[in-house]
Parts: sequence; structure tokens; C-alpha cells
Amino acid sequence: DGLIWLDGELVPWREAKVHVLTHTLHYGMGVFEGVRAYATDRGAAIFRLDEHTRRLFNSAKILGMNIPFSHDTMRQAQLDVVRENALSSAYIRPMCFYGSESMGLHADSLKVHCIVAAWEWGSYLGKENMERGIRVKVSSFARHHVNVTMCRAKSNGSYMNSMLAVQDATACGFDEALLLDTEGYVAEGSGENVFIVHDGTLYTPDLTSALDGITRRTVFSLADELGIPVREKRITRDEVYLADEAFFTGTAAEVTPIREVDGRTIGSGARGPITEQLQTRYFDLVHGRLDG
Ligand code: PLP
Repeated sequence: DGLIWLDGELVPWREAKVHVLTHTLHYGMGVFEGVRAYATDRGAAIFRLDEHTRRLFNSAKILGMNIPFSHDTMRQAQLDVVRENALSSAYIRPMCFYGSESMGLHADSLKVHCIVAAWEWGSYLGKENMERGIRVKVSSFARHHVNVTMCRAKSNGSYMNSMLAVQDATACGFDEALLLDTEGYVAEGSGENVFIVHDGTLYTPDLTSALDGITRRTVFSLADELGIPVREKRITRDEVYLADEAFFTGTAAEVTPIREVDGRTIGSGARGPITEQLQTRYFDLVHGRLDG
């Protein structure tokens, strides 16, 4: 139920359909975003709306896809969908994809369609895990993002290995997967950036094989305010095993503590103090209880 924004119009959820020959369904060439709106004193507020909208357009630019709407229209569409569906909090999914005019790998004659859908969504990796932390499996499926020089695009086609990794991790009884890059360095979670803490300093992989996460950037600024140093660098699997604390960040996962990786307990095996501080500040910020 509810309304979905489709190419400029709000249509009933059930009518927001595509043809089976939709090009993006066949070849995975498309771009999308994951955005959240939170309940605040002033009603539902979309967190970092402009940054998400900009990343959507940047992803499309990287893929050579021309979005037929302006930044402002796509921005407004997200606000409209939350408002028209009377959502007090929401996960919002903008996506741009090629139509069904023809098959084959030439995209020049294809129409680009855009949608924005939204729905209520709680803690992505489980409410109790936000305190307790999750158990993670390092995946044998590498994070390759089409190729390692294109990881700034949030593209449909880049998620197959992420899904394979989640499938494998959950089948083995873990909560989430941690993917390495093609050289064996730590890249990111299936849909999250990863941070570790060593001796009071935060470390996170640089952007050679991880998405330029908006939550990641937010954690940088929260850490700065708290006087916690942050370093971007290549991280090895054993550094994660030996970390004092570890956590994932993402619009869906927010700040999720990691308590175990491949059966090795991280730190004390519970949410660490720096993780807790950042998580608390993050929730204060998204709910409008902090400036910024
Ligand atoms: N890495 C991947 C592969 C993702 O899909 C996401 C989610 O968008 C992230 C990281 C986290 O990015 P953000 O914090 O912008 O949601």
C-alpha cells in the first residue's frame, strides 16, 4: 500500500511496475540510493538528503547514464514520498534504471526511468544487536565493485558478491559478511563500511575498494568532535582480529557494533566504549538532537 514516485508522478504501490524486458533487470546497469528519514521534533527529517541525492547523480555520471530529472526534482521526490505516505520514519529507495526499448549492450536509445519508494524499516541487523554486537564472517567472495577503480558508483550491478557473501555468512550462522578486496585487504561489509579501533584511534579502509559512505563521513565528523583520531588506510584481516573494537556503518545498519569475526572475539566481546559513544552521537544527530 502507499504511493511510489515513478517518473514524476505518485502512483499506487501496486501499479509501480516494470516490464520483464527492463534492461537493468538483465544487465544490472542502474544506480540507486539508500536513505533514511528519522522522527524528530519537527516531524520526519531525511538525514543527509542532499548528499544522497548528489551521490545518486555521481553514480549515474560514472556509469554514463543521464538522469532525466534535476537534482531538485529527485530531492523533492524523496520528501514527497515520505510526506504523502505519512511516514514518521522511513527507509527511502531512489533508483534509476534503463527501460525496455531494446536488448543488447548499447544503452544509447534506452529511456532512463526513476523511482522513489519508502517504507518503515527498523534496525537492519537486529535491534538487540545494536547493543550486543553482531557476529561476522570474512567472506571468500571478494568486493570488486565492477572494478576497483569504480567503487564510488552505487550501482545495482555491484551487489552480486555482496549477496553471495551474505548468503554464505548467514548459512554458516553469522549475522553479516566482511568482504576483502581483490588483493585480500579488508574492503567493507555487504552494505556497510567498516571501522576498527586500536589504542584509541579509529581506522577504516581507504576508498580504493569501499563505497564513500555517507554514514562513514558522518562518523569522521563525530569522531573529530569527540577528539578521537581517524585514519584511512589499508587494513588487513589480522588487524581486524586484533582490534579493540569494530563496527559497521551504513544508512541501513547505522552504527552496528561487531563482537566477533570468524570466531575471534573482538575486544571484550561486547560493544566497545568508543563504538558506544559514536553510536549514541549518531542517533542524537539523526534524530535532530545535535547540530550538524
Ligand atoms: N558500502 C556499501 C557497499 C553500501 O551499499 C553502503 C550503503 O549504502 C555503504 C557502504 C554505506 O554507505 P552509506 O553510509 O552512505 O549508507
